[in-house]
Amino acid sequence: MEVALNLSRRWKALRKFGVAVREVACVGAPRTLLMAEWGRADQLVVTLSAGVHGDEPAGPAALLSLVEDGLLDERFAYRIWPCTNPTGLAAGTRQNVEGADINRSFNRGGRTPEAKAMIAANRDRRFVLSIDIHEDIEGQGFYCYEPLGQEAIGPRIISALDAAGLPVQELTPEFDLGYPQEAGHLRSLERGRVIADFAVEEKYYPGLPYSLYIGKKAARRVLTLESPATRPWNERIAIHRIAVVAAITALLAK
Ligand SMILES: [Zn+2]
Repeated sequence: MEVALNLSRRWKALRKFGVAVREVACVGAPRTLLMAEWGRADQLVVTLSAGVHGDEPAGPAALLSLVEDGLLDERFAYRIWPCTNPTGLAAGTRQNVEGADINRSFNRGGRTPEAKAMIAANRDRRFVLSIDIHEDIEGQGFYCYEPLGQEAIGPRIISALDAAGLPVQELTPEFDLGYPQEAGHLRSLERGRVIADFAVEEKYYPGLPYSLYIGKKAARRVLTLESPATRPWNERIAIHRIAVVAAITALLAK
């Protein structure tokens, strides 16, 4: 896919603007993950990631466009993972080339080469916010997952999308969130927002999702964003751009 072919070149082209772009080795696999960073040592760090499911290409494209267009607030430093499943993106598959769902592999040191690389790179790092960008193939509008107990950011994102006239998902108990079946009762639903008790949910997953790992280990606030893959490409990109900007702006309002 074209997105995959261009990602590395376009991210590396940002080096001339002071973005440090590295290829992080995946131990035990012949591939690397791109990681981009900038900011001063005295700044709080926001971490962003996309593309852990390779069949959700609007995430990596939106993340790149956010940085290329200078939309990330300079009052924070950043650690960005432009595409955390490059073999899946190239093949258009949810799983990586070995057939593993990376987003169910963040247990302990990581159960996939990609999760291992990210966990090792994040060791001893602390983030003020983590945003992981996805798409929902059945979604008609935006929604996000936000853990119970954190200062809510989701409502600010939803207000920003409403103001822009972009679709927000009505969430009913019938809407398939892809949860482990026994864990379905653990979350509460609002328009555009799933509030989940990460600590309780953890034991229902055979393998840990990225946001649960990072919320537990490294990030003070965590968001998982979902754009609706049934909508036109440009609208999906616009939804993620507005959602990320609104989430980071929300940090400044506290
Ligand atoms: Zn996904």
